[in-house]
Amino acid sequence: MSGPLLKVENLTKHYPLGAGIFKKSIPVIRAVEDVSFSVAEGETLCIVGESGCGKSTVARLLMRLVEPTGGRVVIDGTDIAGLNKGALHAWRRRMQMVFQDPYSSLNPRLTAGQIITEPVENFECLSRKQRQALATDLLRKVGMSPEMINRLPSELSGGQRQRLGIARALSLNPSLIIADEAVSALDVSVQAQILNLFADLQQRMGIAFIFISHDLGVVEHIGNRVAVMYLGRIVELAPCEALFAKPVHPYTEALITAAPVPDPTRARLAAPVEGEVPSPINPPSGCAFHPRCSLAVERCRIDVPPLVPMPDGRVVACHVRAPATGTPLVR
Ligand code: ADP
Ligand code: MG
Repeated sequence: MSGPLLKVENLTKHYPLGAGIFKKSIPVIRAVEDVSFSVAEGETLCIVGESGCGKSTVARLLMRLVEPTGGRVVIDGTDIAGLNKGALHAWRRRMQMVFQDPYSSLNPRLTAGQIITEPVENFECLSRKQRQALATDLLRKVGMSPEMINRLPSELSGGQRQRLGIARALSLNPSLIIADEAVSALDVSVQAQILNLFADLQQRMGIAFIFISHDLGVVEHIGNRVAVMYLGRIVELAPCEALFAKPVHPYTEALITAAPVPDPTRARLAAPVEGEVPSPINPPSGCAFHPRCSLAVERCRIDVPPLVPMPDGRVVACHVRAPATGTPLVR
C-alpha cells in the first residue's frame, strides 16, 4: 500500500467558552490550531509539550470523539468526516487507545482475562477455550504471566495494570495505538519497562504508535519522529535523533535542557521554561512562544511563524531560527 496510514491536515479545535447571545462573540479555547502531520504504517510518532497544549485533544480528534472546528483526518486516503457509522466503527477497531490511568479505565469487577478479551467479544462469540487461549497469548505478549488471568485490577501493580491496558488494546489487532500519557503515572523504573514493551511491540508486530507525553525525556528512545506542540500548534517536527542532537526551535531546546536525566534520585523540574504557559483563550499575538523566548524579535510579536522545512527533513516554526526563505509548508 502506498501513502501514509494516517494524515492530519490543518486540524483545528476551538471549544466555545460558555454560551453567548451573539454567536460570533463567544470566546473560544484554542485547543488545537492548524496541526498537520502524517503517520506511516509501523511508525511511532511522539507528540510532546507542556500540559494543556492540546495533545489529548489531537487524540480525541483522531478517534473522532470530538468534531474538528476545521481541517481533516485522512485514513488510508479517506477523510473520516465522510465515514458512515459502520466505517467509523471499523476505523475505531483498527485504532486503539491506552490511557494514563489504567485503574480508572479498567473495569474493577472483571478479571484480567475478561478485561483483555472483552473488546473481541463485542464483535464475536468466543468459546471458553478460545477465550482462554486469546487471554494467555495477549498476557504473554505484554510480558505477564498467564497465571495472572484470574486476577482483579486491584490485585495488580501499577505497571501490571498498564500492561493489561496494552494487552486489551492489542486484542483487536490494531493498525495504530494511541498512548496518551501511558507511562506518566508510573515510577521511573516501571516507566522504562513499559517503554521497552512499546518499542518491542512496534518492532515485532509492525503496529504504528502515536505516543503522547508531557515529558520529552521519555520519548527519546521510542519515537521515529517527534512533534513538539506549544499552545495548540506544532512548533517543531523532526526525526527523533536529530531533534535530541540539535533542537532548532527555542522551545524544543528549553524542553531538552530541562528534561530530567533518567535518575530517580534527581528531582524533576516543574516547569521546563521560565514563566507560565499563556492562556489558550487569549494566546499571545504572532508566535505564541514569544513572551517566554529569549531570542524574540519584533516580527515574533506580529506574525505567526509558518512551519518551514529544513535541509535535514525537519520542519520548524520560528522566525529567528527557521526564517521562511523557501516555500513555507503550512500557509
Ligand atoms: P494536553 O493533553 O496537552 O494537556 P488538552 O488537549 O487536554 O491538552 O487541552 C488543551 C486545551 O483545551 C486546554 O486549555 C484545555 O483546558 C482545553 N480543553 C480540553 N478539552 C476541553 C473541553 N471538552 N472543553 C473545553 N476546553 C477543553
Ligand atoms: Mg492530555
